[in-house]
Amino acid sequence: SSIIRVSTMSAGAGSGDNNIGVVEFALSSSCRLKIQKGDITQWSVDGSSDAIVNAANERMLGGGGVDGAIHRAAGPELKEACYKVPEDRPGVRCPTGEARITPGFRLAASHVIHTVGPIYDVDKSPEASLKNAYRNSLVVAKEKNIQYIAFPAISCGVYGYPYDKAASVAISTVKEFANGLKEVYFVLFSDDIYDVWLEKAKVLVGN
Ligand code: ADP
Repeated sequence: SSIIRVSTMSAGAGSGDNNIGVVEFALSSSCRLKIQKGDITQWSVDGSSDAIVNAANERMLGGGGVDGAIHRAAGPELKEACYKVPEDRPGVRCPTGEARITPGFRLAASHVIHTVGPIYDVDKSPEASLKNAYRNSLVVAKEKNIQYIAFPAISCGVYGYPYDKAASVAISTVKEFANGLKEVYFVLFSDDIYDVWLEKAKVLVGN
């Protein structure tokens, strides 16, 4: 198994003060996958080359769920920075499956990578769109020399993606495209999603 460490207590550097149930997997000799419960708005590893991923919407001007939490924690400067991202077409700054980067402002993490997952019941190919969202977030991170990145469970809130299917796409895509980063985290807000992610990681990475 490539599970290399399991910590059940707050571990200092790595994730704010609410990192519980951190389970660590080796993706390669230089890249680790970490799965933990917690609030992604509190996450940071080094405050200079780290990014949290926002499950945004195409307008990029804030919303509910993790998007609202990130905007509240980052402060109003984040919305101003998002507003300045050029529109791809009217009202669309980040098309579904793409990613855009801004500073993190008042967050502990230095950057926010905004991506847009599919609305499960509306998107014609939700699996391809979700894969693109993860892959393009990793591509943008590497372009900016980010070494540590934290994802939430993109599309698993109001966008309605089934957890088990979402976990397969999330973990397999990270496994495929994480090389070049030092650590990729999933910071999961709910116990049920954390459990699904952990089981999927054991299957897809752990052996
Ligand atoms: P989407 O529109 O992509 O479905 P949501 O924000 O509705 O996005 O939900 C995505 C996931 O983010 C959900 O599993 C939700 O529980 C989780 N979430 C909400 N707040 C936070 C937070 N502060 N940190 C990490 N995950 C969060």
